[in-house]
Amino acid sequence: MTPYPQKITFGEMREMGVRGVLIYCGHRCGHRTEANADGWPDDLRLSDVEPKFVCTKCGRRGAEIRPNHNPAKMGTGG
Ligand SMILES: [Zn+2]
Repeated sequence: MTPYPQKITFGEMREMGVRGVLIYCGHRCGHRTEANADGWPDDLRLSDVEPKFVCTKCGRRGAEIRPNHNPAKMGTGG
């Protein structure tokens, strides 16, 4: 029994062409942030790291991570 349903791995996500993730507060306080997923190993599941996040807004532990299909544009315009 786990409050975090098993999700795809970061490797599978990268195979889909997704390079970043959206991290939502698991407690619905409305906080959301983006992260680059390059630093996470291929065999790690999104759901494996969800319990490790602590919300910077409400201070509670637990997040929901989703593939970011539309990352914000960064760096030089193009
Ligand atoms: Zn929160």
